[in-house]
Amino acid sequence: MNEKIWLSSPHMGESEFKNVKEAFETNWIAPLGPHVDGFERDIADYLGEGVHVAALSSGTAALHLALILLGVQAGDEVICQTMTFSASANPIAYQGATPVFVDSEEETWNMSPELLEAAIQDRIAKGKKPKAIIIVHLYGMPAQMDRIMAVADKYEIPVVEDAAEALGSSFKGQKLGTFGAMSILSFNGNKIITTSGGGALVSKNEESIKKSRFLATQARDAAPHYQHSHIGYNYRMSNVCAGIGRGQMEVLPQRVEKRRSNYEFYKEALKELKAIQFPDEPNVDFSSNRWLSTVLVEGEVTREAIRLYLEKDNIETRPLWKPMHMQPVFADAPFYGDGTSERLFELGLCLPSGSNLTDADLDRVVTQLKVLFKKTEVKV
Ligand SMILES: *Cc1c(COP(=O)(O)O)cnc(C)c1O
Repeated sequence: MNEKIWLSSPHMGESEFKNVKEAFETNWIAPLGPHVDGFERDIADYLGEGVHVAALSSGTAALHLALILLGVQAGDEVICQTMTFSASANPIAYQGATPVFVDSEEETWNMSPELLEAAIQDRIAKGKKPKAIIIVHLYGMPAQMDRIMAVADKYEIPVVEDAAEALGSSFKGQKLGTFGAMSILSFNGNKIITTSGGGALVSKNEESIKKSRFLATQARDAAPHYQHSHIGYNYRMSNVCAGIGRGQMEVLPQRVEKRRSNYEFYKEALKELKAIQFPDEPNVDFSSNRWLSTVLVEGEVTREAIRLYLEKDNIETRPLWKPMHMQPVFADAPFYGDGTSERLFELGLCLPSGSNLTDADLDRVVTQLKVLFKKTEVKV
């Protein structure tokens, strides 16, 4: 069997292990410590725009705290991009609120500004103004942020930016993760940089970030004994993980460059296969970190045929996210759509995209794809 080529696997740099060792040597093996503070500073410095950062146990925890800080309660409605990973939507349910799903547009595969406005108007007409809008930058591609923010501002609804896949991307030169009233990042094992598991909450509002740290450490009031006037959570990041994160921040620019070059390589190497389309950045305003190289497959060879064929050669690929309005668990949630995300789900595939892929790995993927399409040609 050929060696496995993963979709997106961890890629450590030079400093991560040294930082972990330092945590051990100083006995900071706890969900607090100098690496946690340092990691928060590193992220804030990288993102700019005067943001503050809380390092947390996961991106999902960060989304949950974002909704809590925006006052989302049982019975409320929260608008969410339908085409995403379930972690974008689950925290709405944690709060006992109802997700209202909105479809994507063709250019970025992210939330359609027109359908967003239609959904807001209809929810208001039905008697409930949505409490927040969760916008996602799928696979690192920026959403249409100026148009989304214009709609959100018009109806005075705060935006939660799910930038879990988009660290290192930017829109009009501004880093993603700095647009929302609250934004979140993820450092799960498959993301562009990882702490093994982890996340961050980002906001320009320093009070909110301080409050998130308080809620994330069991909401302990200032008292010598344990005193609580709020429900708390155990959502803080470990100092050991934060040491990994600090090392990863040093190599983030190289990771973005490599992921972008993976995409360019596939696009060039597969240009003769007309059935495979590559989603370009709509214009110079959009800069994607290309967390995953994604394609749409139209024609006789389906995306599932490609996936199974590559799997036989031990190459991992994956269909695009299955939209939330198609998920059994969210079957009853309201949905505003025009079929775009359903079509993307049917045709879309994520190719191996790690920053640690070698030229030989990339060649193997491309060669296998070309062989598959050749075989099919001969048959017809
Ligand atoms: C990975 C991911 C999350 C969740 O992050 P975790 O750190 O795994 O909890 C949320 N939203 C999107 C779009 C993601 O890809």
